[in-house]
Amino acid sequence: MTVYSGPVFEMAVNQFNVIANYLEIPMDERDRLLMPKRAITVSCPIHKDDGTVAVFEGYRVQHHLTLGPTKGGTRFAPTVDIGEIGALAIWMSWKCALVGLPYGGAKGGVNVDLGRLSKRELEALSRRYMQEMIPFVGPHTDVMAPDMGTNEQVMAWFMDTYSMYQGQTVTEIVTGKPVSSGGTLGRREATGRGVAYLSKRVMKEAGICMGDATAVVQGFGNVGSYAALELYNAGVKIIAVSDHTGALHCATGLDVPALMKHTSIHGSIAGFSVELAFDPAAILLLPCTVLIPAAMERVIDREVAERLQCRILAEGANGPTTPDADVVLDHRKDEIFVIPDILCNSGGVVVSYFEWVQDLQQLFWEESEVTRREYEILDRAFTQMVARASADHVAHRTAAMAIGVEKVRAAKNTRGLFP
Ligand code: GLU
Repeated sequence: MTVYSGPVFEMAVNQFNVIANYLEIPMDERDRLLMPKRAITVSCPIHKDDGTVAVFEGYRVQHHLTLGPTKGGTRFAPTVDIGEIGALAIWMSWKCALVGLPYGGAKGGVNVDLGRLSKRELEALSRRYMQEMIPFVGPHTDVMAPDMGTNEQVMAWFMDTYSMYQGQTVTEIVTGKPVSSGGTLGRREATGRGVAYLSKRVMKEAGICMGDATAVVQGFGNVGSYAALELYNAGVKIIAVSDHTGALHCATGLDVPALMKHTSIHGSIAGFSVELAFDPAAILLLPCTVLIPAAMERVIDREVAERLQCRILAEGANGPTTPDADVVLDHRKDEIFVIPDILCNSGGVVVSYFEWVQDLQQLFWEESEVTRREYEILDRAFTQMVARASADHVAHRTAAMAIGVEKVRAAKNTRGLFP
């Protein structure tokens, strides 16, 4: 038992054990690599619009401090608990190491149902959360970013709150900010673009023509919507999407720009079309070329994995596939090409890194440079993953995580154990 005990953390532990066995990591090194260095819990009281006071529980987990500051998003959702945040922090570590960023992993969150907060209450909660975290974060200590339930506006409030306490503007304290407040061009689109870029690379290498391809996207937030748009622009038919309000299905392809316009006004896909309404639970099982889970963790379990009808599984979400499902997918590897989460969605943190570098230097890049460098990093990591998987006859996830774990392990071992 640890404070993190729960199904999501257990999943991160099980995945790590697979890697540690494959890499033959001695038992006495394993806990040092796996267990998070720090976990912070804060209570965030705010004034509600009705004059009462509400208190929300907030968390931040910093997984390891070996390679530089810790880095990762902040999640506002009713499912958030310390175990989920711990698992997400660990995954951030393997992700950052895989793509070669000088960071350890972190993640934070607040257990809150955003549907019950007004905009003013959300601002109060965002500011109070950051204010409570001030002793534990910093541009060279821990750098936050958006995740589920947070966005550019929340990052601007975080940055403003931190800066007000410092007496000067510190843009490099968070990434994913609006471009008008020290953010970088291309960050908003970065994660979805990366998902689409890698999916297109796999399609090209498999000889699949974009015009014949179809995609299904679960989750139409920042990641899912931009992934869908990039594929749509490449000629891929987006035959189904879903979000927390429902799903839409159209065999001839949805009008993704129109849908994005709708969600920017109404906040969800609800009300876009009555005729196209579909069962959200069935969306993952639709026959398609590319399936993009871009919502929650653990949506693809063993049973779902057995029934998937996609050619490419491009994991936009963090942890969408359980270790049980991985066993099934390993048997089905000739039918389904898996682009594992820590590679597939890493475009977001890669461009966050570019934002941090630009803020530190106060030297800003063109969007074309941001995107070119993002794709260069994704290509390199993809090539390494595929080569490792085929050389060692292991699954793509095992190869990708092993590359990440090895880098963290090498840094820990060369630095030594103090004192
Ligand atoms: N929340 C995103 C992720 O899970 C982005 C993290 C970041 O940009 O630091 O990768």
